[in-house]
Amino acid sequence: MEKSNRAQRWSLAGTTALVTGGTKGIGHAIVEELAGLGAAVHTCSRNEAELKKCLQKWADMNLVVTGSVCDVSSRAERERLMERVSSVFQGKLTILINNAGTGIRKPALDCTAEEYSYLMASNLESSFHLSQMAHPLLKTSGRGSIVFISSIAGVVATKNLSLYSATKGALNQLAKSLACEWANDNIRTNCIAPGHIATRLIQKWVLDNEETKAKEASRVPLGRLGEPEDVAPLTAFLCMPIASYINGQVICVDGGRAIYDS
Ligand code: NDP
Repeated sequence: MEKSNRAQRWSLAGTTALVTGGTKGIGHAIVEELAGLGAAVHTCSRNEAELKKCLQKWADMNLVVTGSVCDVSSRAERERLMERVSSVFQGKLTILINNAGTGIRKPALDCTAEEYSYLMASNLESSFHLSQMAHPLLKTSGRGSIVFISSIAGVVATKNLSLYSATKGALNQLAKSLACEWANDNIRTNCIAPGHIATRLIQKWVLDNEETKAKEASRVPLGRLGEPEDVAPLTAFLCMPIASYINGQVICVDGGRAIYDS
């Protein structure tokens, strides 16, 4: 293979991407990875001040990133987000990263109807609806790639995470279904299932408690929790031409946690 051809296959130059929840944690690292590899990225979050701060930082780094305030749990806000994305990228989207999501950690018997609805809307319905709306834009690009950020909690049962796990397990299956349904439209769909990653999401539950943190690290064969930068490179790889035969997969990025009988 010619050197220039190989460079193109490992690049995101000329692509456009929507990454939900890009101001913090895993989404933030994904925005920087994709933009650093040549993608023009649009991202969103609910906090306008934080979004503005991130956009300024990325502009200072010469990364091409735009953003909108959007709560992905709201159908109307998702519709507005996709209108904006279509206008920013002139109707052509190469990459959709459904990353924004949240968790509720409590026993199943204590979960309320409101918590059920909120988690389904934030984690599952948002990803399904954004994928639906992105479909024509991804198809137009001629080489669309969707990546869901699910969780190993959607692969193995985890204590006090039944609702969260249900949303993430559904995303794992949704990736497989869309991978088959939209393959003829040249849209590939895959899922990344991270283990514990050091972000705000697990601050209270894990990071703030040294004992829990050490216990969780000991359950990972590699002996440590993950960082957002451990997840971002695989996300980028799955969207590159080099990954053009990878479709419908759920890949754990967890240091081996989900396959370890600890
Ligand atoms: P963080 O809380 O660190 O970051 C979440 C990001 O998404 C922020 O930018 C946040 O901004 C945004 N966001 C959250 N909810 C919404 C919403 N309703 N609408 C728009 N934006 C939203 O979380 P992580 O980076 O840890 O999590 C990212 C994804 O990774 C989630 O889907 C999570 O379930 C998954 N994951 C995380 C793991 C971990 O251990 N950290 C493990 C496995 C999966 P703002 O709050 O300002 O809106």
